[in-house]
Amino acid sequence: MKILLSNPRGFCAGVHMAIDVVDQLLDLCPNEPIYVFHEIVHNKHVVERFKTRGVKFVEAVAEVPHGSIVVFSAHGVSPQVRKEAADRRLRSVDATCPLVTKVHMEAIRYAKQGYQILLVGHMNHQEVQGTRGEAPDAIQVVESPEDIPDLVVRDPNKLVYLTQTTLSTDDAGVIISALKRAFPNIKEPPGGDICYATTNRQHAVRKIAEECDIVLVIGSKNSSNSVRLTEISRNAGVEAILIDDVSELPEGLLRADQTVLVTAGASAPEDLVAELCRSLLGRFGGTIELRDIFEEDTEFNIPTTLKKMMRERGVDPADRRIRVTAPTITRELYGCVPVTVGATG
Ligand code: SF4
Repeated sequence: MKILLSNPRGFCAGVHMAIDVVDQLLDLCPNEPIYVFHEIVHNKHVVERFKTRGVKFVEAVAEVPHGSIVVFSAHGVSPQVRKEAADRRLRSVDATCPLVTKVHMEAIRYAKQGYQILLVGHMNHQEVQGTRGEAPDAIQVVESPEDIPDLVVRDPNKLVYLTQTTLSTDDAGVIISALKRAFPNIKEPPGGDICYATTNRQHAVRKIAEECDIVLVIGSKNSSNSVRLTEISRNAGVEAILIDDVSELPEGLLRADQTVLVTAGASAPEDLVAELCRSLLGRFGGTIELRDIFEEDTEFNIPTTLKKMMRERGVDPADRRIRVTAPTITRELYGCVPVTVGATG
């Protein structure tokens, strides 16, 4: 089997930061329960691993005992959730990805300027609910071009669109084009809202998929950016499946004479990718080629709320800086060393 391993894949800077926040809290407060509002990132294994270390995940702030530590997940929360946490005197640590916060800030700014905001995204996704909560009267969610005729627009010249950070660039492009046709004067978010990690992982799949018979995406079913990777692959005419780990690989799906692209959503741990590759090599034999499409160097600092808690406990936040590094591929982890590094740019 020829395995092509996509780079970039897996953890983005926002996920690194959110996971590190919980790790650091476990270290900082060993005798206190740590609550996390929603899944810290959308990955089954990440959540299960934290649960075994005592972290409690809740779906409502009311489930957190008064005065406890609560972490807001990488997807962000609405002002209403922050208020509920403050009302319960919770010690909140905000692990919202800064790129999600950027969209919240845009929503607040445009709403203050009197714009109506069309938020392109998935209505039930936590990120969309959080962003929408910043300006509920000004925001309407657009999930597809079919939603456009039902929009209530007061002034087509005072309209802006924003997007969820983890959309398919293909699908978002279709919706945005339809919005521009319907409202030619609609404003665009400065620099775009689909994040660098989503864009890069999708672009890598788009570039490599055509060489492959099938694409295997490691990620959870509720991970928006992981699901989008399978869609990008199918849009390119290549079958793709999303699996949490190697145990979900359907029997009889693969053959030794195939070329297989392996990638991972932004919340999927690298050890699961390595486990899949080791299993494929063990069953089918073959080689791994690493395909370097982008080098990523984005890093986010730990949130100010965590820094404050560290200082209160005599810990210098400068000593706890998060370092994001590209996954290292070793013979021990992968079962072989990649035979080729294809730099296609
Ligand atoms: S996928 Fe993008 S927006 Fe989401 S956590 Fe990662 S960097 Fe942030």
